[in-house]
Amino acid sequence: MNKECVNLAGCGFFKKYGETKDLACRGFIASYCRGEKMKDCKRLQYKKDKGIPPSDDMMPSGQIIAGVTKV
Ligand code: SF4
Repeated sequence: MNKECVNLAGCGFFKKYGETKDLACRGFIASYCRGEKMKDCKRLQYKKDKGIPPSDDMMPSGQIIAGVTKV
């Protein structure tokens, strides 16, 4: 299995929140983008289903981030 998500370089969520200090986002990145849950990422599923990437604020869990301070 890949150590990182195949979409890491092109992922809007990762680009926007990859350096954040927000613990929830960091947890998602550790468990999805660089962890064993990457195959369950709702962003990947969304892109596959709809053919377009979701909002940058959609987390791998499928929830939308509200009010997270960037970096
Ligand atoms: S949020 Fe999903 S699509 Fe984006 S890098 Fe992480 S696992 Fe990949």
